[in-house]
This record gives sequence, structure tokens and C-alpha cells, in this order.
Amino acid sequence: MFEGMTSSTLLEKHPRLEDVMCSLDSVGKMPRGVSAEIRQAVALARRFNETVARPYALELDREMHEDPAFIPWDLVKEINRWGFYTAWIPKIFGGKGWNLGSLIPVVEEFCSECAGIGNLMGVEYFGMSVLFAGWNTRITDKICRDVVEGERSGEPCLIAGLVTEPGAGTDAEETELLHKAQVRCLARKVDGGYVVNGTKVFISNGHVSTWHISTAFEDLSRPAESMMCFAVRRDAKGFNFGRMEKKMGQKGCPASEIIFEDCFVPDEDVIINGEQIRKLRHSPKETAQQVIDFVVTLTRPGVGAMGAGVARGAFQEALAFARETEVGGKPLINQEWAQCLLAEMYANAALARLTYMECNHVTGLYGMAWMLNWKPLYYYMKAMPPSVLDRVMPFANRLQATQQAFRKLIMDWQKDEDARRASGWASLSKFAATDLGIKNCHLAVEFMGEAGIRHDHRAEKFLRDSKLLQIYEGTNQLNRLNLFKCLVAPAAPEAQVFEE
Ligand SMILES: Cc1cc2nc3c(=O)[nH]c(=O)nc-3n(C[C@H](O)[C@H](O)[C@H](O)COP(=O)(O)OP(=O)(O)OC[C@H]3O[C@@H](n4cnc5c(N)ncnc54)[C@H](O)[C@@H]3O)c2cc1C
Repeated sequence: MFEGMTSSTLLEKHPRLEDVMCSLDSVGKMPRGVSAEIRQAVALARRFNETVARPYALELDREMHEDPAFIPWDLVKEINRWGFYTAWIPKIFGGKGWNLGSLIPVVEEFCSECAGIGNLMGVEYFGMSVLFAGWNTRITDKICRDVVEGERSGEPCLIAGLVTEPGAGTDAEETELLHKAQVRCLARKVDGGYVVNGTKVFISNGHVSTWHISTAFEDLSRPAESMMCFAVRRDAKGFNFGRMEKKMGQKGCPASEIIFEDCFVPDEDVIINGEQIRKLRHSPKETAQQVIDFVVTLTRPGVGAMGAGVARGAFQEALAFARETEVGGKPLINQEWAQCLLAEMYANAALARLTYMECNHVTGLYGMAWMLNWKPLYYYMKAMPPSVLDRVMPFANRLQATQQAFRKLIMDWQKDEDARRASGWASLSKFAATDLGIKNCHLAVEFMGEAGIRHDHRAEKFLRDSKLLQIYEGTNQLNRLNLFKCLVAPAAPEAQVFEE
């Protein structure tokens, strides 16, 4: 087919050939231990599902439906006890340092049983990625070690990520849209810190989190140029919980309103602000997009994995139904049309998984994951006894020089092209896998007839849970546009993305 083509004509026909090579590129660069670590992590998630999630998922859904103010503390404590909240905290910040690539398959496992419980666990790492994205090693160290202490003491210390505002959802995740957003969360500089006023909405795990990592704006008329990020504890003066949303699905994971009323944030809890951003190579607006991209390249494939999880869960329900049901005096599983449908559902679940696995390879070469997969650091972390790391790293992480080195390495020196590729693939995985997820849930409900809409067969819960996946971490429409911006537009320079 490619006869007569030189390598340069090949590239013209397929201008972004490297996109299909990212998997191979990264496999060669990743440490060998990674795949063994993924297997162990998934095995632990399966044990958790059997003993905790499956027996409790439907009851939890009913409990939250009847009493939307119910807070699932016991479940949070159980997830904490199993060690999932610290497993992916890097060892340099006191955590277990499991490879980031294993987090996402674990999220799929959780969601193949219950996406609400999956989010209750997984969204911890959304909060954490907002914390990491400013590359402030001092405060990252402080908060991560609080989470580790929360696991040790049995009193969970979780982290929530606060971006969405009543007037800014989709547009809060893209700097080209921020000027249209109705952002109202204002951080006013005062002596020794900031005074924050504003409201954040739909914050997953809000009511169960101790630390809240929030974006705010120093100038509301120029949000993209003045975005800053800070950490605040739930007991701070001026920090208030508002309502908990009554949602159609994922009821196991609270979605909270958070209200800042003259909330004082000391300078030491500021993760990144305008003054620090101005010292970096990129413009403030470009840096704000970099920060957003660091977060979403980790979290969007995570939501893709949630899509793969519900796709698989719905398939499993349909398969079980086909095995135990007769139609026209013949087992459903032996009817050709049912076999075709089950094959299609299997393929949907597999394709959803492929998108996030491929994305995992791409993000493995970018940002935080790239740094942790860098072989010298990877083997250094493996070789160092935790006791030594725990003595050295808190001190090193507090140094201004460490923070500056991280910011230089990651924010100034990483290639824009790598950032685009990672962000584009994260969007691809997010919208493709969640669309496949909801497709399978629809198919399962249809296939199962009246059983499909009965609560105790789980298919209807999968359908309710899956719809939310198309909305958060940027709606699927926004993610399509982001894919276009990152992966298509570079080959069509005349294209204008996010223009009026
Ligand atoms: C269950 C749940 C949990 C959540 N958890 C968190 C959390 O932990 N932290 C957090 O910060 N946020 C969270 N969110 C918020 C979530 O990220 C936002 O809901 C999401 O970004 C969409 O914003 P929106 O709801 O304001 O929709 P809008 O932005 O109002 O969008 C409405 C519609 O318009 C479309 N649209 C908007 N702008 C454009 C555009 N420029 N081009 C094309 N289409 C466009 C959208 O695709 C959508 O169809 C959560 C949301 C849900 C539902």
C-alpha cells in the first residue's frame, strides 16, 4: 500500500505518525517493574471489590437516595484502611509510591463494580493532581504527609480539588474560554496572605475531605492571566460547606458546595500565584493552561477508565442475565442475536480500556508521570529505604531550590509538543471511553428488559452512574474540541479553535 512512498511522503500523508508510536516509544523507556506493579495493584482492587464494594454498592446507592445528606464515612475509612489513598503518593512525599500507571486500571476495577465508590477513591487523586500541578514541593510534602498520617491513625485525611464555580464549568478548564466564564472566586492580596471570597460547586468528596485545593483569581476581569492556586483546611475560618447535590448517579460520592467568606489563606498555603508565575518562561496565561493540562492529563484518562469500568460492569450484568434466562424455551446465551450483542459489548469494554492504556503510555512520558518513570529516579526510589527517604525528603522538599528545580524541569523545559500530545490523548480517552461506557449501559438495560430497570440487577445503576462521566473533567464536547486543538489543528494551521 505504501509502495513508491518515501518516508517524507509518508509523513505528509500521516503528518502525526508519532501519535501512533507513543505506545512503543514509552514502553522502551519505562522501567520493567511497571507491569508487575500494575498486576499487583489490580489484584488488590479485585479483592476490595469482592469483600467491600460488591456487597455494599446497591445498599449505599439506596441509602444516599433516601437521605442525600448521608456521608459515607465508614466506607471512606475502609478505603483508607486498604491503603488506596496513599498508594499513589510518590515516596518523595511519604507515600507508597506505586507507579502512576497502575492507578488507572485500579479505577477501572472499582468502577466495574460501582462508579460511585470508584469516584470516592479515585477523585482523591484529582485533588492531589491540582496540588501537584503547581510544583510547590513544600506544601505538597506537608499535605501528602497528612494523608499518610490519616492512614496510619485510621482517621482519613482526604484532598478535594475545587475548580468549578456556579458560573464557570467547561470554561474553567480552558484558558481560551476563561474570559467568557463568570468566575467569581476572588483572591485579594493582603499582608501575609490572601483573603478569598467565592463559591465552588459540585466538588467531589468535598464533605469528606480535610484539605481543599482550590483555584481562584487575583483579577476577575482577567481570569486567564491571574489564576492562582491555594490549599485550605476544612476548619479554616471563612471556609463553609454548602449543600450536597442530589445527583442521578454515583450517589456514593458526595458532590459539595464550598463557600469562601473572607477566608484568610496564609502565604505558606499558596501553591502558586501570579508573582511566582511571572518568574517562569511562559506567559501567565500559558502557565495557567500548563497547570490545567498537568491536572487533566492525569485525571481525564482516569475518567476514561471509569468509562471502561462501567462498560465492563454492564457487560457482566448482561452476560449473567443471558446465562440465567430462557427466551422462547431456549437459553438466551445460545441465541445468535444475544451472542452478537454480547460480543459487541465485550468489544466496547475492551476498546474503552485500550484508549486509556494508550493514553497511560503517552502520559507516562509527560509531567509528573514522566518524572517518576525516569529510570534513575525510579530505581533510586526503589533502592532507598523509606526510613531514609522520610528523613531526607521533608527537608529537601522544603527548600526553595527544590521547588525551583522542579518548576524549571517540568514547567520551563518540557516541550510544548509533548504537552499537546498528552492533553489531546487524555481528551480522546475521556470522551471515547465514557461514550463507550454509556453505550454498554444502554445496551444492557435494553437487553435485560424489565430486569434491566430493576435496582437489584445493577444495570440501571450503571446507566445512572455512567451519565455523569460524560460531564465531569470537562464535558465530552469540550474534550472533543481539546483533541482537535491538540492533535488535529497542528496539521491544519489555518484552523481557529475556541474562536468566537
Ligand atoms: C458528579 C460531578 C462531580 C464533579 N466533581 C467536580 C470536582 O470534584 N471538582 C470540580 O472542580 N468540578 C467538579 N465537577 C464539575 C464538572 O467539572 C463540570 O460540571 C463540568 O466541567 C461541566 O461544567 P458545567 O456543568 O458548568 O456545564 P457548562 O459549562 O454549563 O456546559 C453546558 C453545556 O454547554 C456545552 N459547552 C459549554 N461551553 C462550550 C464550548 N465552548 N464549546 C462547546 N460546548 C460547550 C457543554 O459541553 C455542555 O453540554 C463535577 C461535576 C459532576 C456532575
